[in-house]
Amino acid sequence: MAKYIFVTGGVTSSLGKGIIAASLAKLLQARGLRVTIQKFDPYINVDPGTLNPYEHGECYVTEDGAETDLDLGHYERFLNIFTSQANNVTTGRIYQTVISKEREGAYLGKTVQVVPHITDEIKRRMLQLGQDGRYDIVITEIGGTVGDIESLPFVEAVRQLQWELPEEDSLVVHLTLIPYLKAAKELKTKPTQHSVKMLSQEGVHPDIIVCRTEKPLFPELRRKIALFCNVKQEAVIEAADAATIYEVPLLMMREKLDIICLKKFNITDYKEPELSKWKEFLDKLKYPKSKVTIGLIGKYLELQDAYKSILEAFVHAGAVNECQVQVVNVHSEFITHDNVAEKLAGLDGLLVAPGFGHRGVEGKIVAVKYARENGLPFFGICLGMQMAAIEFARNVLGLKEAHSTEMDPDTKDPVIDLMEEQKKITAKGGTMRLGAYSCELKENSLASRIYGYSPISERHRHRWEFNNKYLEQFENAGMVASGKNPGTGLVEIIELPKHPFFIGVQYHPELKSTVENPQPIFVGFIKAAKEYAEKKANVKNPLLQSEMI
Ligand code: GLN
Repeated sequence: MAKYIFVTGGVTSSLGKGIIAASLAKLLQARGLRVTIQKFDPYINVDPGTLNPYEHGECYVTEDGAETDLDLGHYERFLNIFTSQANNVTTGRIYQTVISKEREGAYLGKTVQVVPHITDEIKRRMLQLGQDGRYDIVITEIGGTVGDIESLPFVEAVRQLQWELPEEDSLVVHLTLIPYLKAAKELKTKPTQHSVKMLSQEGVHPDIIVCRTEKPLFPELRRKIALFCNVKQEAVIEAADAATIYEVPLLMMREKLDIICLKKFNITDYKEPELSKWKEFLDKLKYPKSKVTIGLIGKYLELQDAYKSILEAFVHAGAVNECQVQVVNVHSEFITHDNVAEKLAGLDGLLVAPGFGHRGVEGKIVAVKYARENGLPFFGICLGMQMAAIEFARNVLGLKEAHSTEMDPDTKDPVIDLMEEQKKITAKGGTMRLGAYSCELKENSLASRIYGYSPISERHRHRWEFNNKYLEQFENAGMVASGKNPGTGLVEIIELPKHPFFIGVQYHPELKSTVENPQPIFVGFIKAAKEYAEKKANVKNPLLQSEMI
């Protein structure tokens, strides 16, 4: 049977519970334990798939096609493992299960209540991943902040489990904030005291308190927190602001967060943490030898979390290339034929982001045209790939009205069309083409050079696809379909062999990029951007150019 770590949060949201949970998991994994993490979210949506990115950031898709919270992305990037539907549970999903059981008559005439029926279902799911012997440790992150009405049933479930599980099989880590008051030049512990008190009133006593802080927690302060919050002083952990999230595991190791957990669990047969790959990555990240600027064209740019996995994939790919990747946001709604050159000046690569609906698409098409005509490295993801197809159809094939039926249902030339199996679907939740699909690569293509093997498998989240009726026309004009689904023939990758680097993919490669396995297209794209930047620098400096000749 596995051991369980519950991670709660207090004082405020956005303290980085997901990163702390993932860092602890990383350390335990590096010490030879088999670890997984799950997230319990207190909102009523069955999954975040129907949420606008402005509400909850990116929707992360797992191999098995679950639409999940973006923290699962952190778990996969840190641990280099796959998560699944079982790793993300919402209040909505819990209620859905309980209500359908009630309809089946499973409760035998009983009144169905939050306690015990909802809490029993929460507990069942909290324990589930730890029951088949696959994991030594299951970490459960509870979304929201302690004191929220909606997180109460989850905290209650943790309370019950602490009683039901053997003493050395579970522990609670509580993450809080120690604010620094500039005027008083002091770190303040009161909010932490209050949040621990609130958690205790709900019946859960934390074993470890992790304190987010801008300034070091000196021993006196740690003593005070330990005293007022009733934990051992060694269990008061400093989580200082870090330059990158990837440094947090090392900060937590210095604070012995993993050792304290192992001690509580009576686990003694652990090894020194094996983090050499991780440290190598961090070194490259911290000391880049060059720099590129990538334009991210999207429409949810006000919120960085909307493109979380893309931004992290750039961090991984930058480190491999020993290159700092500066991502600049370019709002697609404001790009026109007249200003595109000015808006994209200074870029070494262009990424057109995934998205839904018609807002901002014309700007994206204009940007793709610029990249295609000017040899600017281009990478289109999902909607970005579809925009590249539309741009090519309009400006190279001369199909002036070409469009996607998502934006223009009556277009004369639907080069992007709704997938056949999507035509009958009306419900929105969980009904897209989701999860991992196989894709065969064309020999000698850019895609096959980038991946180095075939078939590949990547994750999807879309309803529309490239319309194969137009494929011959596209290929005759120089746009190659270099990746196809072996079963259905769906076009998954398009590329322009005559361009230095022009690739569009129907899937979401960013979802599989991890610290230890950076995603190959991102790596290739940054390499191409580096070459583009070098060439640009040489043109600007003719002296250097002649010297080089
Ligand atoms: N809206 C497009 C589709 O559903 C693209 C989706 C996406 O970019 N994830 O096909």
